[in-house]
Amino acid sequence: MNHVNFEEVRCSTCISKSSLGDFTVNPYIGCQHQCAYCYVPFLTHNADWERKVKAKINLKPILARELLGRKIKTGSIFFLSSLTDPYQSIEGKYNLTRATISSLLSSGMRVVIQTKSPLVIRDLDILSTHKEGVQVGFTVLGLDGKYKESLEPSAPSVSSRIKAMKKLSDAGLHTFAFIGPVFPGWTDADIGELLTLLKEAGVREVSVDRMRLRPGLQEKIASALGTPTDLDYDSAYIRVLKKVKEFTSKNSMALTHPFSSW
Ligand code: SF4
Repeated sequence: MNHVNFEEVRCSTCISKSSLGDFTVNPYIGCQHQCAYCYVPFLTHNADWERKVKAKINLKPILARELLGRKIKTGSIFFLSSLTDPYQSIEGKYNLTRATISSLLSSGMRVVIQTKSPLVIRDLDILSTHKEGVQVGFTVLGLDGKYKESLEPSAPSVSSRIKAMKKLSDAGLHTFAFIGPVFPGWTDADIGELLTLLKEAGVREVSVDRMRLRPGLQEKIASALGTPTDLDYDSAYIRVLKKVKEFTSKNSMALTHPFSSW
């Protein structure tokens, strides 16, 4: 686990177009969760991704300015966040995600949140007053144990994510689980129990994604696991997808892409 430094920065823009929904806002640059399989450091060519997290402290006025200036259509879907976890623990100090979802929802936008952190429960007051415009998803690759500790060393426990999903579902919010990237030996071993827990947590939608290896990622994963790996990601993905298809069709859950129901 790497030591993380923090820095306050000022942004000049904050809304980006996104293939996940219509737009995205990333309140932070970098992510404290340090998942070994994270592709973002490779995508952004940011070697400090896990060691330095930057908080965009002027996000709120910049967002307000852009929402007015860009005349974004009411009902547009904002995904939080495409390049970081919007509820990593630094959010407990800066409240930038809270301010963002509050501004977006009160401007008539729809918001899809995807996180690994139960900190999202803190904002239940805002989320529950805009239920029709909100979906909250949690990323879960498998259950707690050695893979979680090696591959997601700084992320909250899977059990805490599932408890948070239940609280949100019980509050009437639309919740989804994002099972991905499917990890051989972890996701395929735990999938039956995981799906049962998700159903009990009131999750309505499940999506499954495959690993997309980028140059350097395999070596990073091997280092996190402490062993050389030559894993068959595609076969594990096919096995998991088959189980998820069977389970969701038997249990009136949807196997879909998040927010495709909108
Ligand atoms: S939570 Fe997401 S963005 Fe953060 S390190 Fe893990 S995979 Fe990357």
